[in-house]
Amino acid sequence: MKKIPFFDYPALFRLYEAEFIEAFKNAGTRGAFIMQKDLEDFETTLAGYTGAKHAIGVADGTMALLIGLRSAGIGASDEVLVPSHTFVASAAAVRHAGATPVLVDCGEDHLMDAASAAKAITSRTRAIMPVQLNGRVANMDALCMLASEHGLKVIEDSCQALGAKFRERQAGRFGAAGAFSFYPSKTLGSFGDGGAIITDDDTIAENARMLRDHGRGKSGKVEAWGYNSRLDNIQAAILNVKFRYYDKEVARRRSIARQYHERLKDIKELRLPPPPDSDPDHYDIYQNYEIEAEDRNGLKAHLQDRGIGTIIQWGGYTIHQFEKLGLGGNVPYTERMTQRYLLLPMNVSVDDAAVAYIGDAIAEFYHRGNA
Ligand SMILES: *Cc1c(COP(=O)(O)O)cnc(C)c1O
Repeated sequence: MKKIPFFDYPALFRLYEAEFIEAFKNAGTRGAFIMQKDLEDFETTLAGYTGAKHAIGVADGTMALLIGLRSAGIGASDEVLVPSHTFVASAAAVRHAGATPVLVDCGEDHLMDAASAAKAITSRTRAIMPVQLNGRVANMDALCMLASEHGLKVIEDSCQALGAKFRERQAGRFGAAGAFSFYPSKTLGSFGDGGAIITDDDTIAENARMLRDHGRGKSGKVEAWGYNSRLDNIQAAILNVKFRYYDKEVARRRSIARQYHERLKDIKELRLPPPPDSDPDHYDIYQNYEIEAEDRNGLKAHLQDRGIGTIIQWGGYTIHQFEKLGLGGNVPYTERMTQRYLLLPMNVSVDDAAVAYIGDAIAEFYHRGNA
């Protein structure tokens, strides 16, 4: 029997070990720990890669969202639309900015549904936070049109979608600001926490640089209540190494997605993510491969028996099901989905033989194969 963990953390280090050690030694020798050249280089690379005018490294993806919202002027008495199928961090950022998260349902693509968002708009709605989940960008034509009709700012949670595109435009580039996370299991993962904000807006960029560094402005004078939320220079140095391989790693993920699709497409008990290039409007980077499955729990247990690790994203809860947070929400699709969704192993340490093995094990569960 094979053993295929859902995610192989030690492999992150093994993959480019010599270069990481060199980067660490290099930064350490220079004593470059906080807001040094490696961070500046990383910000330049990230801005260049996404096409944004500014990139600002921060402590993590959640802080990128919070600082992004505050920098764009979102705060007390504002409502922000957030999809219900997301990490609690999306809503927490809204809450910590002083605003109120209002939950919106997702559609069959597992992304914010524009019709559901339209229904949730009130006189207090000030912004909309599409979450570009699983490495796919939502239909931003519909969401941006809704935002412009109602004068709403768009702050994207693009933490799972660095490099993903909708109509040639990258995730994080559709509104006032976009947020990225470099949590180790993200497509561009550091060796700890990390995050960044991108924006084309000079004022938002200046606010973000101030807020991440205790509210200190360029003159050194404190201009607002800020945070200690800088991206560590050492993490930036690690990310500079990983960025060199990023396109190659995304291509590998797309190849895995293509193989999953070929192997699973005829199993009618499953709903699969669209395969790469099936829709010319979308370029997906497959942060995750999230399927919907009949008898999801049975399938998960069966795969476990075959040595295959899977994950139910967010523990199988939509964020309105965390009663202590007090979030209401009419999100029927997301609620149904919590019984059906499952993440299959999707990362660069999954080889073709592993994809074949996983495909056979799934077919076997639904009595479609002889594995
Ligand atoms: C990872 C993630 C975040 C938060 O990122 P951290 O770096 O862990 O703070 C926010 N939203 C989504 C959708 C994420 O996947």
